[in-house]
Amino acid sequence: MAEKFDVIVIGGGPGGYAAAIRCAQRGATVALVEKASMGGTCLNVGCIPSKALLASAHTLLRAKHAAVMGIDITGATPNWAKIQQRKNMIVQSFVKGLGGLVQANKVKIFTGRGICTSQTTVKVESPAGATEIEASKIILATGSEAINIPAFPFDGQTIISSTEALSLSAIPASMAVIGGGVIGCEMACVYAAMGTKVTIIEALSQLLPKEEPWIARILAAEFKKLGIETLVGQAVQSVDKSSSPAKVMLANGQAIEAEKVLVAVGRKAICDGETVANLKLEMNRSAVKINNRMETNVPGVYAIGDAVATTYLAHGAFAEAEIAAVNATGGSEQMYDYELIPRAVYSFPEVASVGLTEAQCAAKNIAVRVGKSYFRTNGRAAGENETVGEVHVIRDTAANKVLGVSMVGPAVTELIGAARAMLGSSEHIEHVMFPHPTVSEVLRESWEDAFGVSLHAPPKV
Ligand code: NAD
Repeated sequence: MAEKFDVIVIGGGPGGYAAAIRCAQRGATVALVEKASMGGTCLNVGCIPSKALLASAHTLLRAKHAAVMGIDITGATPNWAKIQQRKNMIVQSFVKGLGGLVQANKVKIFTGRGICTSQTTVKVESPAGATEIEASKIILATGSEAINIPAFPFDGQTIISSTEALSLSAIPASMAVIGGGVIGCEMACVYAAMGTKVTIIEALSQLLPKEEPWIARILAAEFKKLGIETLVGQAVQSVDKSSSPAKVMLANGQAIEAEKVLVAVGRKAICDGETVANLKLEMNRSAVKINNRMETNVPGVYAIGDAVATTYLAHGAFAEAEIAAVNATGGSEQMYDYELIPRAVYSFPEVASVGLTEAQCAAKNIAVRVGKSYFRTNGRAAGENETVGEVHVIRDTAANKVLGVSMVGPAVTELIGAARAMLGSSEHIEHVMFPHPTVSEVLRESWEDAFGVSLHAPPKV
């Protein structure tokens, strides 16, 4: 007889494990089906390993520029094997910890491929055989995969995705990065810091096309200092692998030599084809269609995270998991405004934003005042020698509230959570304490500027 649960979650990434734990905390009996390692893309081949590599790269850059701080360091060089080992140890310990956390919440983990055979039954296929489990509610959290370009598909050796880029056996002499989005910018920084000659080729007119143009301008200028060449508005026609290094051929006739070609042109949702067919799931291309309660077209079946192609962000998946878990366990919640989900890029310098951009406000005919502040006038940032960057706060002048915040600079990925918490608040920023001296004061100062109450900026004439 099939083992019965209240909820079955398929997929153990940030969406899936969060949903499973929340359902269990709300009193449900829960099964979690995962075919690979707990933690999904984020923990195994995404957010966490990339941040470990970026931290090693940042340490190397700080060591190389230590003379500015009055510290003489000679021979600062990367030990790639140790960098990889450290990254792998962080991932392994978190995977182990996560398994423990899920089990401590009395969630039963099934290892194998989970296929919905009906809206209440899941078959778990593994090399050891197949098991059937049942539940009145199912949450699909099956993730995403890197988009392949058919003209020059991934081969895992020369033409690679972010997965291979995180675990290269050696630092390549040269790398072409196709796609100047989030992954492209982050991995370009890792390898440029390690000494690789990096060229980014972005099809649209700027790096990070979803962010403000001023952000892309600062990023491109800083990337140049790191030795990264940025080509925007360029289409890649083919990759010639007949000789080593390979040649990336652009539509304009230019050829770029690269030992490794990282294709980072986005990700696409995955849902098991048999599940889609068995449940007659409504899809939006490869993504599962959902409403704002994270319900699919099949009663009792929910979908969240990358599988629904809403944010492709781990924290977006966490938010959706909370909604699906409440709804699958007798509660009633709706997903809140997706614009309020912060974006964070861990490049050198970092980029972070939340809410609307200036262009989005203009498109909605919203009159705004943009408050600005600069890291070069921040005492703590000066002391840290991290003076590149700006913060822009966008205030709706009619409604007198902040609609968006965009930042480039040190630690902005840490600051954006505070910016999100303050969006829409009517509290006067002058009354919110920011310790002095801290880098976080840039947020207060741009906010003050947006409301015309700056203390440290000269009066505008
Ligand atoms: P992305 O959407 O951020 O960037 C892809 C870029 O490739 C875009 O700028 C696009 O214009 C460009 N592009 C598309 N086709 C191209 C082509 N043929 N030639 C050249 N450029 C082309 O996607 P990504 O960087 O691959 O990341 C995948 C997903 O993972 C994203 O949704 C991202 O948000 C997420 N992610 C997030 C983080 C983070 O939050 N720090 C880190 C890594 C990945």
